[in-house]
Amino acid sequence: MAKWVYTFGDGRAEGRAKDKNLLGGKGANLAEMASLGIPVPAGFTISTEVCTYYYQNKETYPPEMKEQVLAALAEVEKIMSAKFGATEGPLLLVSVRSGARASMPGMMDTVLNLGLNDQTVLNLARNTGDERFCYDSYRRFIQMYSNVVLDIKSEHFEHLLEEHKEKVGKKFDVELTAEDWKVLIAAYKNEVQKRLGKSFPQDPHEQLWGAVGAVFGSWMNKRAITYRKLNNLPDHWGTAVNVQAMVFGNMGDDSATGVCFSRNPSTGENLFYGEYLVNAQGEDVVAGIRTPQPLSLAEKKSMGSDLPAMEEILPPLYTELVGFRNKLEDHYKDMQDMEFTIQKGKLWMLQTRNGKRTAQAALRIAVEMCEEGLIDKKEAVKRVDPAQIDQLLHPMIDPKAKKEVLGKGLPASPGAASGQIVFSADEAEAWSKAGKKVILVRIETSPEDIGGMHVAQGILTTRGGMTSHAAVVARGMGTPCVAGAGELRIDYATKTLTAGGKTLKEGDVITIDGSNGQVMKGEVPKIQPELTGNFGKLMEWVDGIRTLKVRANAETPLDASTARNFGCEGIGLCRTEHMFFDPKRIIHVREMIVASNEAERRVALDKLLPYQREDFVQLFTIMAGLPVTIRLLDPPLHEFLPHTDADMAEVAKAAGKDVATVKAKAAQLHESNPMLGHRGCRLGITYPEIYEMQCRAIFEAVAEVKMKGETVLPEVMLPLIAVKSEFDRLKVMVDRVAGEVMAKTGAKFDYMVGTMIELPRAALIADKIAEGAQFFSFGTNDLTQTTYGLSRDDAGNFLVPYQELGVIPNDPFVTLDTEGVGQLVQTACERGRKTRPDIKLGICGEHGGDPASVHFCHAVGLNYVSCSPYRVPIARLAAAHAAMGAGTISTTA
Ligand code: PEP
Ligand code: MG
Repeated sequence: MAKWVYTFGDGRAEGRAKDKNLLGGKGANLAEMASLGIPVPAGFTISTEVCTYYYQNKETYPPEMKEQVLAALAEVEKIMSAKFGATEGPLLLVSVRSGARASMPGMMDTVLNLGLNDQTVLNLARNTGDERFCYDSYRRFIQMYSNVVLDIKSEHFEHLLEEHKEKVGKKFDVELTAEDWKVLIAAYKNEVQKRLGKSFPQDPHEQLWGAVGAVFGSWMNKRAITYRKLNNLPDHWGTAVNVQAMVFGNMGDDSATGVCFSRNPSTGENLFYGEYLVNAQGEDVVAGIRTPQPLSLAEKKSMGSDLPAMEEILPPLYTELVGFRNKLEDHYKDMQDMEFTIQKGKLWMLQTRNGKRTAQAALRIAVEMCEEGLIDKKEAVKRVDPAQIDQLLHPMIDPKAKKEVLGKGLPASPGAASGQIVFSADEAEAWSKAGKKVILVRIETSPEDIGGMHVAQGILTTRGGMTSHAAVVARGMGTPCVAGAGELRIDYATKTLTAGGKTLKEGDVITIDGSNGQVMKGEVPKIQPELTGNFGKLMEWVDGIRTLKVRANAETPLDASTARNFGCEGIGLCRTEHMFFDPKRIIHVREMIVASNEAERRVALDKLLPYQREDFVQLFTIMAGLPVTIRLLDPPLHEFLPHTDADMAEVAKAAGKDVATVKAKAAQLHESNPMLGHRGCRLGITYPEIYEMQCRAIFEAVAEVKMKGETVLPEVMLPLIAVKSEFDRLKVMVDRVAGEVMAKTGAKFDYMVGTMIELPRAALIADKIAEGAQFFSFGTNDLTQTTYGLSRDDAGNFLVPYQELGVIPNDPFVTLDTEGVGQLVQTACERGRKTRPDIKLGICGEHGGDPASVHFCHAVGLNYVSCSPYRVPIARLAAAHAAMGAGTISTTA
């Protein structure tokens, strides 16, 4: 008989941590904890295979499952010495929670206190002698169950609660008595009756099946689907359902509940870190309604909190908790995110998982765990997600900047961000669609806000702790976040934020610093972070592992220096046309374009040559000792021509022509399909003097820098080759100019001539092109465009809906389409190598900095990837992961 249900508790379990695919992350780790002898309330996991079955079989369960659930429930009853639905004697209540392979915080549903009804609540009251607690639990259950299972919005119940508090003149829930809760329970049940036309289910088994169905159902709710899309998690994984004995943190002052991390998830510091609340249920900590207290004295001090730490008021339990922290971290050899509950002085662990962390924390934890001997260097490198280190390269507030601090909250997710304030997730989405940068300001966030949080530059909340929804989600996204800034006041009605005696309205600009919690007025200047310390160490390990070289796409001295600081090993693409737009040069470029004949063109080109030469001198000097690939002019000439009458007149004047001639030339150069038009080497063939000037500038610069004693490794690259004879013709010209420069300057230098492979035809005849070309650089931007037959400038309009509809998994301009475009790359590599075994192979399309694409480049045996300067460290790390065959990382979001 197929097995669908797995039990755990009392020092044993049917599953282990390795069974995540089957039991989900939560279920597998509960099983592991139970096996390690850590006190875990007994329970069972209904496997993810049931979820798959459920969706493949019209939302029904496998026939044997019910019996297995009942057997598992009986086992839990035995371990916990309590009975589900008992109206006399010890009562077992359960929680029903989702648990997918990868954690999806707050995205799916949970029901707590299940098993309570009008009878069992009386029994519980007798057992505990605490009527208030029992009726409070019952009303929480009715609200949660009604919301999750019966689809009645929580706000209806919250409204009744507020109404009642007003009536009895009480402000806080804690002031309400058992009698108050009884009145509210009756009102809640009425509400259910009114809205559904039937009463709230009293049978605990009916409740259980309702909740199990709702959790499986929640796998396909809108926010879970969105979350999976944003995090590239496949729909077919499914969730498991965990049914577990309830323990209560709200049974008085000897009870508590909390969440903790074995190290600081924000900074990575090796300091036990967490929050707890006395006399509360777990949801209260994350909901951010009460301000949670620090666990340790050290943490209390570092946060400047005046609330009592657990270490102070519950010292033996704190020591026990630290023991579990050590045991779990040693066991998993990774930072753990744990949940615990203390019920009447007994500590229970409810969850452990590898904790989500900021990039900064991921880096520090990986390096320090390696230095502590917990993991080796390779493992440390694997622990840092290439896509995530982008955050480390983001701006921080310039320490010298003047700033007006409006208030302070918790440093929930590091990095600095500025933007216009908006007060709802919908507005954040709308404003950002309109091209504005926004900071999402909310009292607190909820899973419904995910879309707005994703587009915001930063997130600011006035309520909630470091584990509040805003904090957890922002950290995962790498978005700067300040949470729980309690001294700030938000008024949604007037769309204002009052802080430091100032009132800001929607659209005003603020800056937040998620590294120290400050909220500042206006846009505050930022600086780039230092890439030394742990970053430098890890990158050294990375470089010892990877085999793929990493170059940069850069043409300005600033970009080139940045790239070199980021550890690039040369320039893989210098787009020379970017050098043409400088105000001093563009006029000569235009003169060249409107010239009537070659002689006139040469006059204009002669004026451009010194500029180009100086550009290359700078590049070669910055990149001394490293290869520099210079691509000759690529875009169609009309891109350089002016559009306005005034600009046309200016060009006419400079070129000594009349305006009508200039206009006529512009009209003549106009193309319906410029991407497929007169560009790339086609320009070089039809106007050879342009490429000739560029080559002369390159080689004269080589001679000049070489004469200063530097090593220069120039590579001349011809774009958009489709036909072998295009390459051969141009190569003759390049060699001739190189010879002329050597003769003229007396310098001797080596150089390479190669081509971009950016057209399918070039990929297919790569063996022939390689007869002359010494290197290929895959221009995967154009190669994607021409393989798909879609315009790289216009495709955004439908690529977004295409991804939303699941027609394609990714934007092929971001992540290389290995299935189609990748085949052409692979074919070209194979054919090129057949002709010239030592041909140098690289990629310079945007994909060179995309981790998944870097894996592909490694797999097909490219020599290097070339990407924008800020992506160089990402590509280095991705290349190391590729060399180790490491897949995607689950511990970092
Ligand atoms: C390419 O096509 O991939 C490429 C790098 O060239 P560009 O983006 O300049 O067309
Ligand atoms: Mg191109």
